[in-house]
Amino acid sequence: MEQPNPFKIAQAQLDEAAKYLKLDSATHAMLREPMRELHVLIPVRMDSGEVKVFKGFRVQYNDARGPTKGGIRFHPEETIDTVRALAAWMTWKTSLLDLPYGGGKGGIICNPEEMSERELEMLSRGYIRALGEFIGPEKDIPAPDVNTNPQVMAWMMDEFSKLRGYNTPGVITGKPIPLGGSLGRLDATARGGMYVLREAAKLMGIELKNAKVAIQGYGNVGSFAHKLVSELFGAKVIGIGDVEGAIYCEHGFDYDTISKNMKKPGIVPKDLPGSKFLGKGTEGNKELLELPVDILIPAAIENVITKENAPRIKAKIILELANGPTTPEADEILHNNGKFVIPDFLANAGGVTVSYFEWVQNITGYYWSLEEVHDKLDKKMTKAFNDVYALYKEKKVHPRLAAYLVAVQRVVEAMKLRGWV
Ligand code: GLU
Repeated sequence: MEQPNPFKIAQAQLDEAAKYLKLDSATHAMLREPMRELHVLIPVRMDSGEVKVFKGFRVQYNDARGPTKGGIRFHPEETIDTVRALAAWMTWKTSLLDLPYGGGKGGIICNPEEMSERELEMLSRGYIRALGEFIGPEKDIPAPDVNTNPQVMAWMMDEFSKLRGYNTPGVITGKPIPLGGSLGRLDATARGGMYVLREAAKLMGIELKNAKVAIQGYGNVGSFAHKLVSELFGAKVIGIGDVEGAIYCEHGFDYDTISKNMKKPGIVPKDLPGSKFLGKGTEGNKELLELPVDILIPAAIENVITKENAPRIKAKIILELANGPTTPEADEILHNNGKFVIPDFLANAGGVTVSYFEWVQNITGYYWSLEEVHDKLDKKMTKAFNDVYALYKEKKVHPRLAAYLVAVQRVVEAMKLRGWV
């Protein structure tokens, strides 16, 4: 089956909000497409001695509320439309969390699994040289995303600092701690998700202790979600899926046992005693999504909850830690079936929120304790959740539309105050 185009989905979601907010056509047009996008070529001398030319993108979607902000993905199937969609979602995410940022996203078409450490470093540095004058702490601030990590951020920050001629930690977030990274950034996406899950469960009268959870994706976000949902609430993760397949255990998987037995990052062991193998790849994951659980956490890729499987989803709360896991038709079906979807740009906003804290710490040169980061993150996430929930109740719309109404409204207000529209 052909994958739906994520940018078309992002535009359809905006169109629905625009109609609801009765946006005039100029305002709508300004929000429907990226304000600026850069396409770059990055030549890298590979270990074989041959030069390979990589393609990279950076989309600066809208900067009415502040410098554009968003991660960089390394992905063999990266497309400009995926980056555009993700940049649009970053715009809504930073607005919803009321961070002084716009939205952006970057991507490089490459397969990091087939590249050496040195080749990845050359690629990361080459990307920054190509973008040099278009990014910066007051312009556009990248961060980690799929297949990029603190080490990649360190190379990129170093390259940018060389271009500028002085240390510029505020150009990028998600850095290692010794280079100006923030405490609490590593698990921030999953942790922020836990705070909104707590709020949703409270309002819906769901007891999180011993609640059954299924998690799709076991990278940085999914694995921390497992750890935190068990540690903070005593919930039981009974199903886990990764790219190779899915596993099930009635009594719940122990986080430490899984992490000790992982052979590759992101891939969970399939043969633990007491666990059942649900099936390979997409087949196994299909079963995983439909398990009889209270909470479903998609933490991998786009378009996994569609009109085909949405009617069979049993979870009461869907916590979207991935970007774009649910299609618009599926949103309607879930809402009509009484399911509560905590939409991606609310659920996974913890990452960019702690990125914002990191940037503030870099700019002021004063570093915070872990408790301070957690406390401020909790307050930001809880406030954003309440803003969305209030509108969801008042307007009786599905939660994603409620989140769009809050976020789009704020961007429109900034554009109007600037005199753009
Ligand atoms: N890539 C993350 C996201 O999608 C974090 C972005 C950031 O920290 O700027 O929200």
